[in-house]
Amino acid sequence: MLRITLPDGTPKEVPRGTTPLEIARGIGERLARQTVAARLDGLLVDATMPLERDAQLQLITLNTPEGLEIYRHSTAHLMAQAVKELFGREVQVTIGPAIENGFYYDFYSATHTFSPEEFERIEKKMAELAAADLPIERQVLSSAEAIRLFEEMGELYKVELIRDLGAEEVSIYRQGSFVDLCRGPHIPSTGMLKAFKLTSVAGAYWRGDEKNAMLQRIYATAFADQKELNQHLERLEEAKRRDHRKLGRELDLFSFSDEAGAGLVIWHPKGALLRTIIEDFERREHLKRGYDIVMGPQILRTELWKTSGHYDNYRENMYFTEIDEQGYGIKPMNCLAHMLIYKSRLRSYRDLPLRFFELGTVHRHEKSGVLHGLLRVRGFTQDDAHILCAPEQLDGEIKGVLNFVREVMTIFGFEYEMELSTRPEKSIGSDEAWELATNALQSALIDSGEPFEINEGDGAFYGPKIDIKLKDALDRKWQCATIQCDFTLPERFDLTYVGSDGERHRPVMVHRVILGAIERFIGVLIEHYAGSFPLWISPVQAKVLNVTDSQAAYAQEVYQLLREQGVRVQVDLRNEKLSFKIREAQMEKIPYMLVIGDKEVAAGTVAPRHRSGKNLEPMSPGDFARLIAEECRQYH
Ligand SMILES: [Zn+2]
Ligand SMILES: [Zn+2]
Repeated sequence: MLRITLPDGTPKEVPRGTTPLEIARGIGERLARQTVAARLDGLLVDATMPLERDAQLQLITLNTPEGLEIYRHSTAHLMAQAVKELFGREVQVTIGPAIENGFYYDFYSATHTFSPEEFERIEKKMAELAAADLPIERQVLSSAEAIRLFEEMGELYKVELIRDLGAEEVSIYRQGSFVDLCRGPHIPSTGMLKAFKLTSVAGAYWRGDEKNAMLQRIYATAFADQKELNQHLERLEEAKRRDHRKLGRELDLFSFSDEAGAGLVIWHPKGALLRTIIEDFERREHLKRGYDIVMGPQILRTELWKTSGHYDNYRENMYFTEIDEQGYGIKPMNCLAHMLIYKSRLRSYRDLPLRFFELGTVHRHEKSGVLHGLLRVRGFTQDDAHILCAPEQLDGEIKGVLNFVREVMTIFGFEYEMELSTRPEKSIGSDEAWELATNALQSALIDSGEPFEINEGDGAFYGPKIDIKLKDALDRKWQCATIQCDFTLPERFDLTYVGSDGERHRPVMVHRVILGAIERFIGVLIEHYAGSFPLWISPVQAKVLNVTDSQAAYAQEVYQLLREQGVRVQVDLRNEKLSFKIREAQMEKIPYMLVIGDKEVAAGTVAPRHRSGKNLEPMSPGDFARLIAEECRQYH
């Protein structure tokens, strides 16, 4: 008999060879149906593994994140099995891990290209194999045996993996005729897999290396039951509907062009206006909070990038150019010019803190594979500031930045999460400096009264930081603000100030952004609002539409009057049916439509209609302009 202890401390006497699944069944049939694997003295094992010694046992059930991950990885095996049954030796299997909300499997085929039209056929095969409730069995082989086995099956990627592992033994998992090299654990049998769907197919290099063969990655999603799967699919549909690349095209905000280059945004009139409104807002908000607006050059001499350390540590991400035999680096960050401004004169403690703000456009080389609309680009503009202060001022400065973040996120209607990253193993700077900066960040976070997480040892080598992630309407998280202390740059640039004691001291430096990259932030805004921007940032706030030509002159007059009063307005005088013009304005998600008929001409009024469908009482164009201004003021 063995003595097995469950997490609540309950000991169980069971015969040697009993499996965790049998123990689960002894507790209840429902628990057994939910058990996907087990943890034995801390190690993950299959629920079907016979127990051989006394141990601590924890059953892993499907309703836990860990259980769901094992379930999803098992669904990846199921998909690979289905593909192998359908395509045989035409396709080779490689790897298939679980990912957020699902899994993928990478296949190699020299002759077959997977397309979404085949997904249903693969899903049907998967359902058949699941219904057959095939037991999933683990087997341990010597590497030599395993290599022979996979060579016979023509699975050369698996052979390569085993060779690279260099272990004496490997484990494989069998279900029906399918065999996969895998560490496990896996669910007991395929019958447990109930709700899955293939979602897309994309190219991926073997082991992520572009020198290797191109594989075909089939993405799929899997949930414990059909209801959860359906909810997830609805969220995906909603995300697709809100995709900023699609809306950016429909609303004519921006584009990308191969002729210009990948990852470089081209802003169209409405997009450029939207961006300008946000940038103007930022300038006002920074001035209000005692920041100075500064501007640095787009290229700076290579020597300076050597001084800063970027040349040694960040060169792969930078672009370089040469003028008059002199090397220049295109800036990937805005810090350096701000250092030079600081150094341009002798600084006294009375000058501090200095807060230099720049809407700084930077260029960074990103691999083409990771570029994604506005969310991941090669050229972007940060709302970047560098605060230089005396050590004892750091506390107040960090609190000021956190307040700033809170106020701005409230205006845009975002909730957010905060994380503090502390000193990593490899770091520069004295213990005192780290302690001071980490305490300043932490006390500001505590002071904010909002919850935050601590990532021990996750800070940059040159200082601790706070990362802030906003949550959009679909509950997705996006990195926006960061607040980062830096001990290297003040050293490398030998920044000093004269203290009240007449001695020279080193200032503390903080890099911080509030929205982050404006491009990315606008991408997030588009998806968050599904293109229906709040009035104060809408590039077009109102559109004037005439019913027939006889009202054209008055419509034109209203348009001009509103424009002069600062309303962002368009006029549609085309000789089209009114219903057509209204539908178009609705597609453009314009907050107000002003339809001009004979009644409005006679009374000298406009009758605003909000995009929500609500009609306002007729009013003079002047009153409408005041209404717009008033509504915008409510935001900030
Ligand atoms: Zn596996
Ligand atoms: Zn910086």
